[in-house]
Amino acid sequence: THNIRRLKRRCSAATHMASHAPAAPYKTGLASGFICFIISSMRPDILTPLFVPLGNIKGIGTKTGKLLDKLAGTKTIDALWHLPNNVIHRPLLNVNDCKIGEHATLKVSVMSHNPPNNPKGVYKVFVQDGRGASLCINFFRAYTSTINKNLPVGATVFVSGRMENFNAQRVMTHPDYIAKDAADIPEYEAVYPLTAGVTNKMMRHVAQDCLARCPDLPQWSDMAPPFKQALAQAHNPRSAIEATAVSPARQRLAYDEFLANQLALLLARRHMRRLPGIPVKGDGGLRAIVKNHLPFKLTAGQTAVLDEIYADQASSNRMIRLLQGDVGSGKTVVALLAALNAIEAGKQAVFMCPTDLLARQHHDTMTQLAGQHIKIGLLTGTQKPGDTDSFDLIVGTHALFQQQVQFKNLGLAVIDEQHRFGVYQRMRLTAKGLMPDLLLMTATPIPRSLALTTYGDMDISILDQKPLNRLPIVTKLIGADKIHELVDGVKRAVANGQKAYWVCPLVEDTEKSDLTAVKTRFETLSAEFPGKVGLVHGQMKPQQREAAMSDFVEGRTCILVCTTVIEVGVDVPSATIMVIEHAQRFGLAQLHQLRGRVGRGKLQSHCILLHSPPLSPIAGQRLMTIRDSCDGFAIAEKDLEMRGAGELLGTRQSGMQDFKVADIFLHRQLLHQANTDARRILKDDPLLKSKRGEALRNLLYLFDKDSAVSTISAG
Ligand code: ADP
Ligand code: MG
Repeated sequence: THNIRRLKRRCSAATHMASHAPAAPYKTGLASGFICFIISSMRPDILTPLFVPLGNIKGIGTKTGKLLDKLAGTKTIDALWHLPNNVIHRPLLNVNDCKIGEHATLKVSVMSHNPPNNPKGVYKVFVQDGRGASLCINFFRAYTSTINKNLPVGATVFVSGRMENFNAQRVMTHPDYIAKDAADIPEYEAVYPLTAGVTNKMMRHVAQDCLARCPDLPQWSDMAPPFKQALAQAHNPRSAIEATAVSPARQRLAYDEFLANQLALLLARRHMRRLPGIPVKGDGGLRAIVKNHLPFKLTAGQTAVLDEIYADQASSNRMIRLLQGDVGSGKTVVALLAALNAIEAGKQAVFMCPTDLLARQHHDTMTQLAGQHIKIGLLTGTQKPGDTDSFDLIVGTHALFQQQVQFKNLGLAVIDEQHRFGVYQRMRLTAKGLMPDLLLMTATPIPRSLALTTYGDMDISILDQKPLNRLPIVTKLIGADKIHELVDGVKRAVANGQKAYWVCPLVEDTEKSDLTAVKTRFETLSAEFPGKVGLVHGQMKPQQREAAMSDFVEGRTCILVCTTVIEVGVDVPSATIMVIEHAQRFGLAQLHQLRGRVGRGKLQSHCILLHSPPLSPIAGQRLMTIRDSCDGFAIAEKDLEMRGAGELLGTRQSGMQDFKVADIFLHRQLLHQANTDARRILKDDPLLKSKRGEALRNLLYLFDKDSAVSTISAG
């Protein structure tokens, strides 16, 4: 994402330099991460002042310019998006009216200087306000000449800073301002996020300078306050509330950003739909056979999702569909049936998984279900199927993306647990010169708001219904000191033929102490259940891991001590107990995924979250959220609330949108409004030709959506 952003920035800079001639074609990552060649369109002249480099501002040298570049960006508009996050109020007061600990500006007369005895001591300047109340101004390591110049005895000056109390004496240490004229001290001072080398004063100067350059733009929305005023207010907050994300000005700007985001996504989507796809429509033969041999009946949800997928496949537009389904909702069989549709039509299909373990497991499942009728290959880091052309379906890991693997006749690519793949991997597949239909699957429910901003350009199918034979999993929080009782409980369950996962945290495979803890747990449990305990972790050889997994699946072991390698996809319906040690160390999404490994059969399943003190309030809240909800979407919403969008799912790396002003959680109402508005706008004015359309084009440029604008005219 970072690189793309840099690239984009460079591109906009390039377009700026050639602002009167169309710039050269460039590559840009569209929101969804698919490569598109786009001719940069021309930015209207009215916007030019906003794209002037910050280095041009008076009083900003090249050194500060570079720092600003890192902090805010290169252009005027970037500095305008760099908003204050606080405000200091400096009311003009008398000494005795000041509140201790708060800022104030005072009009004072300088009475006397009290220099220190040694260079490291405090230099004191005593002053008096109009009512004769005294104030001591302290300077540490002061430059005497500066003090003498700014605060000569007998002068009347304005000082501003934080009022303190020391031994009944009012004290101000290093005033923020000393000025002859009250007008030189802001009553309200915006406080900006800074970086070393950029002072708040500089940042305020830059912001004010940039505000002054902001042109009057035609209105694209009648929401109050108008755009330019909103920017000015956001940079000049008059109260603590006004410096927060929920001030009217900030809300207006957030709406604008969402609107630009939603318009760009809709435009990109419209553009991509124009790309030719391969119409795929099988005769249903293979699907009928496989469906008849399934050990279960498809749920209504699965059937409905399949209908959507088949319709996409049959269409001459390319399918780009995200299938979201909570853990255990049965996505695998849906993907298999979609693949069979392509295969019936004489095409190949690939099924990509994030890990070797999953690739093998899916390969097994699919071979069991369809292996008699089609040729299924396995392609992992350690195993190559040879000639890929001879297979109908290839199941594999990211090795599938490697350059040397070629497909002749690819009709469908399924990407399972898609959030684990970066945008770049997705791009590599499409860059192979193929335009296969894409079915992206994720078991990590994405809150609707996130999905809207990131996948707005995809069709989304949701499997919200689990197979009917499931009982809800019972989740309990248990202190780690109760582990003996827990082991007794597991013993009873195992005696009844049930199986248990026992998960220990292992954040990085290099964390030695964690690995020791996993092995120790394996040993203590082995002592309780001789010969019945298996061990799986990321540092084992794939074959060893494989063997341990099949021992567990086939019942030779009944407890599997493991790390989060089993987090995604693993399917062992006879496992009914999930113990998670140090549960407080896991994120919400991860806990939910882990829990989803049980509850897959007809028996009642339990998830035990072991935790040990001290538990931070936020960790406690997380554990209670998991205990009280089994709904992946609700949990994801809570996660978003507690962590903020950026951290969720590691969105920053996974190519999800991040915003300059808007907060996906705090402003979610506005997001939905922007979504509705964007749809209506493009319906009424598809080429953005009206007056408002023109104004909206400006908006798109303001948020770096140049490529979206160019798709409009590309026709
Ligand atoms: P996920 O959506 O997490 O990938 P899976 O595809 O692994 O879920 O399915 C979970 C389990 O549910 C598997 O054991 C699968 O065989 C079973 N399953 C799938 N569909 C149905 C259904 N319609 N009825 C009953 N069981 C089903
Ligand atoms: Mg799955």
